[in-house]
Amino acid sequence: MSILEVKNVFVEYVSNNLLGKKRPVYAVNGVSFDVKRGEIFSIAGESGCGKSSLLRAVAGLIDVKSGEISFDGSDAEIQMVFQSPSLNPKMRIRDILIEPLIINRKGMPRKEMFEKVLEVIKHVGLSESDLDKYPHEFSGGQKQRISIARALILTPKILLADEPVSALDVSIQGQIINLLKKLRDEFNLTIVFISHDLNVIRYISDRVAIMYLGEIVEQGLTDEIFNDTKHPYSKALLSANPSSKAEHVALKGELPSPMDLPMGCKFNTRCSKAFPKCIENAPDNVYFSDTHFAKCHLLDSCLDEKAY
Ligand code: SF4
Repeated sequence: MSILEVKNVFVEYVSNNLLGKKRPVYAVNGVSFDVKRGEIFSIAGESGCGKSSLLRAVAGLIDVKSGEISFDGSDAEIQMVFQSPSLNPKMRIRDILIEPLIINRKGMPRKEMFEKVLEVIKHVGLSESDLDKYPHEFSGGQKQRISIARALILTPKILLADEPVSALDVSIQGQIINLLKKLRDEFNLTIVFISHDLNVIRYISDRVAIMYLGEIVEQGLTDEIFNDTKHPYSKALLSANPSSKAEHVALKGELPSPMDLPMGCKFNTRCSKAFPKCIENAPDNVYFSDTHFAKCHLLDSCLDEKAY
């Protein structure tokens, strides 16, 4: 059962171009996906592909231009964890953690609030004695644990994680990723996770969407994306990962500006397989299983009895 549904969402900003003229930035361009309760759904793509804008739109931090974002139950609580935890340096951890309860659970007795604080600090692998400390007394990984504890204190149903480990040392990254997996298992927490690190994505995710210029170009179970990659962009992205055994697929040129989206397939300016139809028409999703699709004209001809 889906806890989150995103339907044909567009997000646009207005920004100045190089000549100082105001222009629309097409950050998210018709994205649809759904996420099941207890699932870890990840969105991967280069910097500038629109994944952070999409996550912020889901969090309600920015407006969508059109489309629909709906949750199972109107009060499904969402919390977000960011790349760099922002913890007030003048507050003890106890006060940082209790603050959301004071603001959002007005009738809750103080004793219950303190019990909740103690419960979450232990869940993220820190101890009661840490509650009396200040943020500067912690390492980067511990600060991220505290920011996860702060996100969990309101018992959210969905956690949105925006590059939560990319500012951490590799050795610490694994601890935070394992913590998120443990929390998913313990609380049946649903996690929408974004990262540019494909090793992290592969390890943590149940399903993966690959984004390019504000569109999902391929989506599937983690195994389908990494072991049966279909889209030319996904192949290039995955082959650029140092631990990939796949033959390297070069990307031509730079990522186009989201102010000037290419006509037809948005990947056509960088795709080594592009042909005239790619400039004339935008491709539709081609399905390979009920969970796996990719958006590419080349794949149209691959339709067979397995296709939907
Ligand atoms: Fe490349 Fe054309 Fe497929 Fe786009 S539709 S990914 S340009 S082959």
